[in-house]
Amino acid sequence: MAGEPQADCLFCKIVAGEVPATVVHETDTVVAFQDINPQAPCHVLVIPKAHYRDAVTLATEAPALAADVLREAGAVAAGGKVDETGYRVVFNTGVGAGQTVFHAHAHVLGGRGLAWPPG
Ligand code: IMP
Repeated sequence: MAGEPQADCLFCKIVAGEVPATVVHETDTVVAFQDINPQAPCHVLVIPKAHYRDAVTLATEAPALAADVLREAGAVAAGGKVDETGYRVVFNTGVGAGQTVFHAHAHVLGGRGLAWPPG
């Protein structure tokens, strides 16, 4: 069933409190936590509490929840003060693009120069 927790999903386990995470903010629908392998001074992941395999699936099946994720990404950037200099919100989608955890998540990256195009 769409959105249901998946037993083999790392981020569902973080939502359930079964795997520890450094949570920076949480709402009824989303959780923001520090990436375990930060690629910038600010590197926070924002996830929906419900399970969707990627961002496009999330936006298609639960558009209001996708909006919650984006709104939270903005709040994280403002909280980390990276909104003043600019930041990047990244949804790696698919193995070839570097997605390794198949539970939709936004990377919020900032606090350093961000090259374009990304590698
Ligand atoms: P992806 O490669 O776009 O799927 O992003 C997955 C992200 O999850 C990577 O940046 C990892 O560093 C991060 N990650 C993996 N395991 C954990 C964890 O247990 N806590 C926090 N971040 C994690």
